[in-house]
Formats: sequence, C-alpha cells, structure tokens
Amino acid sequence: MQSFKAPKGTFDLFTNSKEPWQEIRLWQWMEEECKKFSELFGFSEIRTPVFETTELFARGAGDSSDIVEKEMYTFLDKGERSFSLRPELTACLVRSILEHQLYTKLPCKLYTIASCFRHDRPQAGRYRQFHQWSLESIGIDSPFEDAEMIALAYGFLQRLGIHSTVLKINTIGTPDDRKNFQESLKEFLLPHFEKLSPDSQRRFHTNPLRILDSKESCDKELLQGAPTLCDYINSKSQTHFSLLKESLDRLGIAYQEDPLLVRGLDYYTDTVFEIASLKEGRQNSLLGGGRYNGLFRSLSSIDLPAVGFAAGIERVLLAYLDQGKPHLFTGNKKALFIPLAPDSEISSLCFADALRKKNIACELWLRGKKLSKALSFAAENGFSEAIILGEEEMSQKMATIKRLDQATQEKVDFDSIVPYFEQLRR
Ligand code: AMP
Repeated sequence: MQSFKAPKGTFDLFTNSKEPWQEIRLWQWMEEECKKFSELFGFSEIRTPVFETTELFARGAGDSSDIVEKEMYTFLDKGERSFSLRPELTACLVRSILEHQLYTKLPCKLYTIASCFRHDRPQAGRYRQFHQWSLESIGIDSPFEDAEMIALAYGFLQRLGIHSTVLKINTIGTPDDRKNFQESLKEFLLPHFEKLSPDSQRRFHTNPLRILDSKESCDKELLQGAPTLCDYINSKSQTHFSLLKESLDRLGIAYQEDPLLVRGLDYYTDTVFEIASLKEGRQNSLLGGGRYNGLFRSLSSIDLPAVGFAAGIERVLLAYLDQGKPHLFTGNKKALFIPLAPDSEISSLCFADALRKKNIACELWLRGKKLSKALSFAAENGFSEAIILGEEEMSQKMATIKRLDQATQEKVDFDSIVPYFEQLRR
C-alpha cells in the first residue's frame, strides 16, 4: 500500500509530538502570546483568505522580488483566472483595507497570524508552508511609529526570554534616492559583471539594489568599495532615521546600523529592520519589516503611509526552545470516568453529560476493563481525577473519586458527583 506523507517542507502539529517545536500546545500558547501582545499595543485582528489574485502579489511585492519570481504557488482556477497561495501577508491586509475602506478611520492598526506559502528549498527553519505573525500600522508617517513597531517586536522577544538576538536597522530613503544610487552601483559593478554570482547578474538588470542582499562571497567581495546607499538618502529621510535612532536609544533598545540591509520587497521606504537570532546553523532571521509608504499607491489611487513587520512563528518557537527552559503546559483540569462494572458505561455517559453541562471537562475510558491500564492512561494524559465505577460502586450508588494530583481517594454518592466537581473547580 502507498503510504502518504505530508508534502515536503510542510509539517503536522499535535499533542506530544516528538519534535518539541511541533507540539500543538506550544503553538496555542505562542499564538495567544502574539494576540495579547498585539492588543497591548492597540492592534486588532484581521483574517484574510489563503489565496488571492496573483496580480496582487506581483504588484505588491514587485515582479522582480524572489518571492514573485520563483517562490509562489500559482494556479489557474476553472475560469482560467490566476491565483496564488499567499507568500506573505502585507499585500493581503492592504487589499482588505482598501476593499472595506478601513482607511476611513485612521490610524488603522491590524494584526494577523496565518500560514504563508513559498516554494523554496526546505531546511531547518525554512518551510514551504510556514506561519507569520504580521502587524501593520496604517496612516502614521512618523519615525516614532517606526520606533513603536520595533519596540513591539523587540519587547515580544524579550518577554519570551529570547535575548540572544541582534536588531539591524537601515534607511533606504525614497524610490528616487534608490534610483540615483542604483545607477552609481551599476556603474561601479559593470566592469566586474562577469565576476558576479548568476543571481546577482540577473538582479543587475531587474533590481540591482538586491545585490546588496547577496550572501554569495564573490558578490560580498565585489561590494567592498562600492558606493553606499546612505550617501544618496535625502535630508527628510535622514532626519526620520535620526529620530528613529534617538527613540530607540531612549527606549534602551540596542541596534546595529546595517547599510546593506535592503529587504527583499520593493515597496519599502525609509526604515527597514530585522531581528536575527545569533544562533548559527539555521535560518536566523526571526522577523523583519519596515515602512512601506509606496504600497498603497501601487495597489490603488490612494496614498497612505504604513509601517509593519512579520515574524516567523516557527523560528521564534525554535529560538524560544533554544533557551532550554521546559515548557509547562497548564491546560485545564479534566476528569476521567472509568466504567469497570458491566452496566456502568451508560451511567458514565450520563454523569459526563451532566458535568459538561456545567463546563467541567471530562472523558470516558472505553478501552477495556483493566483499572491499571485506565489509570496509567490518566496519569500520562494529565487527568486530575479518575471517577471509578466498579461493581461495588454501582451497587452502593457511589463513585470512587481518585484525586490523581494528590494520591487520595474518597467515595461520593451519585447525586453528589456534579456538586463535588463544581466545588473542586471553583
Ligand atoms: P519576510 O516576509 O521574507 O520578510 O519574512 C518575515 C519572517 O518570516 C522571517 O523573518 C522569517 O522568520 C519568516 N519566514 C520567511 N520565510 C520563511 C520560510 N520559508 N520558512 C519559515 N519562516 C519563514
């Protein structure tokens, strides 16, 4: 028989998974932390479809970005329209803000936690279906809002105890600044064109700024002595950047200025930032973002300033687990009915029904009549009480309730089971 497996670069999440980062309770907890932290800064949740028109991403991220050029899962539907699974969330949120005119009340601050899809080579920390926590603040053109976003991102990692990181910031100015810079960069690189990596040779024509991003050593070498973007930044953007840095200094947030940080997407303006883990040996960018004052205009006739970032949930979880702190899952308490007598199953069903009507969580053991097996199941699965209904109990109309967390037990008559648990869970 053919055995089925999850597609390459994807994974399942479930309780007691062998891979600690694939433990579903860890994900539930992390998503809850993201929600709480978003709300602490005044962001409200939005959810959008998993696929959108391909054109949205082509116009949003730019045709020459790696994502649009090489990594999108694109398909034609039955009406021959081209759609793509979302490779990122910002364009989706902007589409939704425009469609529902959410920009009529500014500022508009939204977050989402959702899966994204990129057809890249899978490796540790890089998946084809992965999850992002994305936050976007629309309508504020201020370096202090950029500082707010960075404070949010940085504060979140600090709260999780993820300290071994570096925050890199840069300004990439306006599209005009970049055009002037790109011309000088091309002039500088042209005599060395043959020595550039194949990717950079392609980018030389499509998006030369991205050559700065290259991880190839031949490109890095060539870039030494190249013109730097900061010399081409207009004075308004420079002031913006200075105020951002002053804000971060005052907030006590340490950063490195990285003139080579340009980010993969074309719609960024002014501030760009990234927080990376210092751990070697896997994809280490935990989150990245910046100001994208150009995106609304490229998708509509409306011009709106915006700043945001996206964190990869997988990578944040891996960084969290790197600290080696065991995670204690403090799930809700639950009880296990163990019907041992021949006619005790239906009574157990009815007691369970009565408990659940009072919002008291419980389950039934229906895999045989061996008490020891039922009790070890209860111990392994975090039950706090076992409610045993053996022959003696059924004839006395009493249940034996074992407090597994305290190793005590007592008999409770049938009518008192619900009040007993109500008292216990209070
Ligand atoms: P980006 O949208 O490329 O700026 O990525 C933002 C964040 O998403 C990165 O910092 C990573 O944490 C995460 N990320 C991006 N691509 C992947 C991937 N293929 N697998 C896992 N996480 C990713």
